[in-house]
Formats: sequence, C-alpha cells, structure tokens
Amino acid sequence: MAKQPMLKFTTVSRDMPEKRIPDLRSKDFDEIYSAYAGEKGAEQASRCSQCGVPYCQTHCPLHNNIPDWLRMTAEGRLQEAYELSQETNTFPEICGRICPQDRLCEGNCVIEQSGHGTVTIGSIEKYITDTAWENGWVKPAVPHAERAESVGIIGCGPGGLAAADRLRRAGVQVVVYDRYDRAGGLLTYGIPGFKLEKDVVMRRIDQLEKSGVKMVMNCNVGTDISFADIRAKHNAVLIATGVYDSRDLEAPGSGAKGIVRAIDYLTASNRVGFGDTVPEYENGELNAEGKRVVVIGGGDTAMDCVRTAIRQGATSVKCLYRRDRANMPGSLRETANAEEEGVEFVWLAAPKGFTGDTVNGVIVQKMRLGAPDATGRQSPEPIEGGDYNEPADLVIKALGFSPEALPTLWNEDALEVTRWGTVLADYETHETRMPGVYACGDIQRGASLVVWAIRDGREAADAMIAQMNAAAAVAAE
Ligand SMILES: Cc1cc2nc3c(=O)[nH]c(=O)nc-3n(C[C@H](O)[C@H](O)[C@H](O)COP(=O)(O)OP(=O)(O)OC[C@H]3O[C@@H](n4cnc5c(N)ncnc54)[C@H](O)[C@@H]3O)c2cc1C
Ligand code: SF4
Repeated sequence: MAKQPMLKFTTVSRDMPEKRIPDLRSKDFDEIYSAYAGEKGAEQASRCSQCGVPYCQTHCPLHNNIPDWLRMTAEGRLQEAYELSQETNTFPEICGRICPQDRLCEGNCVIEQSGHGTVTIGSIEKYITDTAWENGWVKPAVPHAERAESVGIIGCGPGGLAAADRLRRAGVQVVVYDRYDRAGGLLTYGIPGFKLEKDVVMRRIDQLEKSGVKMVMNCNVGTDISFADIRAKHNAVLIATGVYDSRDLEAPGSGAKGIVRAIDYLTASNRVGFGDTVPEYENGELNAEGKRVVVIGGGDTAMDCVRTAIRQGATSVKCLYRRDRANMPGSLRETANAEEEGVEFVWLAAPKGFTGDTVNGVIVQKMRLGAPDATGRQSPEPIEGGDYNEPADLVIKALGFSPEALPTLWNEDALEVTRWGTVLADYETHETRMPGVYACGDIQRGASLVVWAIRDGREAADAMIAQMNAAAAVAAE
C-alpha cells in the first residue's frame, strides 16, 4: 500500500518560501518571496489534513479544489495538480501571489485554528502554476469549434480577461477594448512589482492573444468609440471597467502642489518599471526620491504606496490612518512587510489640513475610536487639542476609489447603476437590465479583490455562453 503522504501537520512545521531581507528587497521592485525549491512544495502540501468539509475551499471565492491539488502536489503529481487547479482559477499563479489568504482560504484552515499554523495554500498554488509554466504545460486555449457569435469586453483587467479566456475556450470571438496601452488593468498599472512581477502578468496576456483574443488598446470607450457602437458590433457586451474615481480630501490646503493621487503615483512607478519615460516621474512630481513622504489611508493601496516610496529612496515614509491597526482594511501581512522595510505607521491620525503652496507639512488631527457605527465598526472621532504638524514634501492620498459615472460618460441613461454608482447587474448571471449587456469585477461590486473579479468574469462568460446556446437551439428548431 502507498505510504500516506498527508496529515503531516503535527510533524512538519509551516514554512513560507524565503522572504528576501528588508535591506535588499527595499532597493528594487522584484517580488519579496522566493519560490519553493526542490521538495519543499510537496513537503508543505503534505501538511494538509484533508478535511471532509474543507473550509479553505468554501472561503476561496473560486471554490478551488484545494485539498485535492495539495494531495497531488504532495504525491509529486504536479501536472495533474495544475490541471485541476486551472479548472476553477484562470490565473492561479496571480492569486497565489496576491490574494489576502489570511482573510480567505488560509484564514479558514482548520490546522491554523488548532494552533499548528495554516497550510501555505497561496504559496503552493503559485508553486504549482509557476512549475506548469516552466514545463510548458500552460497552453493557449484551442476551442473545439469556432462560433460565429462575438463578445465585446470593455476593460482588460482580471475580470475582463477571465471572461475572455472562458469565452475563447468555448470558441466565441472576443474583442477586448481598453483605454490603457497595456492590458492587465490594476494587475499591470496598480499593483507594484514587489507583490506581482510584471512578466507574470504579461505572459498571461500573450497567451490570451495566442488563443485568439483580440485586444484593442488605447481605446477609451465613451471617447474613441461609443458604447452604442460596441453594442452594435457584438452579440453581447461585458462591462469590466473597474473603479477609478479616487476619493478626495476636503481640508484646508489640500490643493497644494505635492499632494497627489495614489493611482497616479503607482501608475507612474509601474510605467517606469516597464522602461517608459514618465515626465511626472522625471520632474519629481510623482517620485519620492529624497523626500519626506506621508501616505494617507489604511488599505492595500496605501500599503503599496508606502512600500513604493521606500524603494524610490524616500528619506522617511509615514502612513497616517484614522483608526488603529486592528481596524485597518489592508492586509496585516503587507503591513508587517512595510514595517520591516522601514515604514512608520501613525495610527489614530487624520489629516486636518496642509501647509505650504508646495506642500511642506500635514496638520495631523489625533483621533480615538468611539461608538460602533451601523456596520459595527468603531467610528473615529477627533481628540480636541491633539493636533501637530508633520513635515512632508510629498503627500499621497490613498482614500479608496468610486466608480466613474458610466451612464453620463457613455451617454447611456438606460444603463442602471446603484446609489454607489456601481453597475446594477444580477450576481449570478451578471446581466444588467440592458439585454445582452453584462458587468463584472469592481464596476459591479465596488473596489474589491482580483479573485472576485476572476470569479465574476468566469460566471458572466458562462451566462453568455448559456444564452448563446439557447438562442442557437431556438434558431435550429
Ligand atoms: C493599488 C492597488 C493594489 C491592490 N492590491 C490588491 C491585492 O494585493 N490583492 C487583490 O486581490 N486585489 C488588490 N487590489 C484590487 C484589485 O486590483 C481589483 O479588485 C481588480 O483589479 C479589479 O479587477 P477589474 O477587472 O474589475 O478592474 P481593473 O483591474 O481596474 O481593470 C479595469 C480595466 O478597464 C479599463 N477601463 C476603464 N474604463 C474604461 C473605458 N471607458 N474604456 C476602456 N477601458 C476602460 C481600465 O483601463 C482597466 O484596464 C488592489 C487595487 C489597487 C488599486
Ligand atoms: S484563489 Fe486565493 S483564496 Fe482561493 S485558494 Fe488561491 S490564494 Fe486562496
């Protein structure tokens, strides 16, 4: 009988892939975690307790069959593990790198809850798929037969691309329109390389193009082509435009030079990483080198800004957040990484104003946590007389994103939106109330996660295919 390879959590300790030391990693934009080498991936996978009801799977938005691919990895059946993993996840190596696993799969691992330390699910998912790429197992989709129907997808982020992949596998003709010059959405221009190296994203884009997905770049829908024209060209349309309206600050002095939006700052940095010439980076406007940097916000975007500023050579980097560490929305793992790299967090602190025509300081209002609000979260309230001035040469606003006003921008009153401005669509089929128009990802659910955008994109594609099949069956009668 084969030796039982699993349930080793009592004898094998949890071991993440090595993390580069802060002094080295804070000087470049390469990923900070190395990959599992040799037998390490199999060893770590063998810790899984093979639960009958796997909570990790329930709490993964894609319901990945985690216990089974862990078992295959432990048994050295990596190609099978990859085949199984990609059945439910379009971009497993991307999720393995950037999902907040502590809130999703790993946070619900029973081994973690019994005090042995979670199975390192994300790192193993990354290991399986990176190995698949190295061995040439990741192949462009080849449909059994081409279909005549076409779908126009607006937005080349993870939601739109996951849908494109699924549609192409079914033989549907797919055209993706995006206003950027490179595909990938926030995977390319938002999330920095130290979390997700860009060649990992670009090889996926290349693969999708090889499978026949057409990408129309530098095409701003609403300006370069109208939404109505896209609808007229295709059997169905998927809106996957993400959320890009940066929330702003209303405080005295907030219009000063040197106060910038996080998305502009991160996009410039990512562009520089691609080798582009970025005038706002060259002239210092979006470059932290030699500056005292203050980032305002406590989410993932703020974490990415502080760590980018460290790598650009800021003299100091502080992050102001109006609640405390326990109540911040950003990943605790990324906060710890930022602290190791030299970022200082100033908890219970909010900007009350700014000094200088070109900013030279932030007036910081000290806060405390008061009564819980309707969501149960304690509301921050100011402590009178607790203000002070924090010197700053560059202030980055990372206060979150709202949807752009699509019905106005696209001159489409019939496109219904919620009171938050997100596109109103069914949560299973993703169809809006406009026939043949679907929505997915952040523009449907509000600023969220890559893994949710992938799930939405896959579901929307499946619903479109089902509708095309139904229409074809009627036509054949
Ligand atoms: C800085 C930052 C860090 C993040 N870090 C993480 C993380 O670590 N882990 C995680 O899971 N999630 C993270 N997120 C969230 C995640 O990136 C998003 O939830 C995800 O990218 C949403 O995917 P999407 O496809 O809906 O939209 P997007 O990725 O935003 O893509 C939308 C695309 O639509 C295009 N577009 C928009 N309007 C138009 C138009 N009118 N015409 C043509 N094209 C248009 C845009 O150019 C873009 O390419 C982060 C977000 C930010 C901002
Ligand atoms: S996709 Fe994300 S949540 Fe699901 S198993 Fe992978 S890392 Fe965990």
